[in-house]
Amino acid sequence: MKDVDLRSDTVTWPTPAMRQAMAEAEVGDDVCGEDPTVNRLEEAAARLTGKEAALFVPSGTFANQCALLTHCRSGEEVLLAERSHIVQHEAGAAALLARAQLRPVSPGSAHLLPEDVAARIRPEGDVHYPRTGLVCVEQATGDGTVVPLAVLERVRLAAGPVPVHMDGARLFNAAAALRVEPAAVARTADSVMFCLSKGLCAPVGSLLCGSSSFISRARRNRKRMGGGMRQAGVLAAAGLVALREVLPGLKDDHAKAKRLAQRLRSVTGVEVLREPEINLLFCRLPRLDRSGETLAEALKAKGIRIYPDEAGVFRFVTHRWVTDEGLEAFASALAAELA
Ligand SMILES: *Cc1c(COP(=O)(O)O)cnc(C)c1O
Repeated sequence: MKDVDLRSDTVTWPTPAMRQAMAEAEVGDDVCGEDPTVNRLEEAAARLTGKEAALFVPSGTFANQCALLTHCRSGEEVLLAERSHIVQHEAGAAALLARAQLRPVSPGSAHLLPEDVAARIRPEGDVHYPRTGLVCVEQATGDGTVVPLAVLERVRLAAGPVPVHMDGARLFNAAAALRVEPAAVARTADSVMFCLSKGLCAPVGSLLCGSSSFISRARRNRKRMGGGMRQAGVLAAAGLVALREVLPGLKDDHAKAKRLAQRLRSVTGVEVLREPEINLLFCRLPRLDRSGETLAEALKAKGIRIYPDEAGVFRFVTHRWVTDEGLEAFASALAAELA
């Protein structure tokens, strides 16, 4: 039996239909634009996000960094929330590749606040100032917050002539939670990226979407960054299945997170921090008398995988491959560890 793996939605594996589609994928040299399956995936991504064009890239980090490189000139400033993935989890890539200056703001907030944008767009003309090249928002955020569309619209307004890029690694989770079409979320930004390799269960890949001229410049940058892949249709085939077969079920992952929250509220020593909006559940374990690493080790021996806490906060992630039985096994094992 496979472990009950609640570490992340990146641990998901491809569905049988994906493996079959990968085996049968029609391919060509995508660097020359000749892979029909990649082309179909890019068209599908553009349609879903309501953008003119899209670009298949190896990862979410790649998509974000390609967006920064394409939107900004070196030395320009990027306004974004301090907690954002681009600041915290992309290994300093913005300094290396786009050579942009990240200006992290809204430290107390899960997401970028419109008022923090309005006050920080640099005026033109004074040579002392960097130019504001880009504003980045995240939807949903890494702490599972779904940003209200009205807030994203206010960020867009506050940015004025400065472009807005959306890190939508979990864009479809956000859209499902808001009960709107993904394009309604994506409309609040000039470019958006989403990941196929998280809750959507595809093995590899993200899509960067935007205007035709933006995507054609991004395509050159993808090549520069070493992300031009040849017979990538084998991967894109899985992505097409993900959009067709797995995307409609994301709301079930959210329901699983809510059921897990409900169950854990009945476990003595678990403090559920907030009702999950998507598939990410955050808890404290005030009765835990050992380190988070030790707890994770003990659960691993019982076939349950979790990550240790970050500053006292544990994150449990639901996805297509965790069942209700798996969640119950986790809840009972955790109760036993805390008893
Ligand atoms: C996972 C994630 C990414 C990037 O994903 P990789 O494919 O692992 O590079 C970017 N932004 C957010 C918010 C994410 O959760």
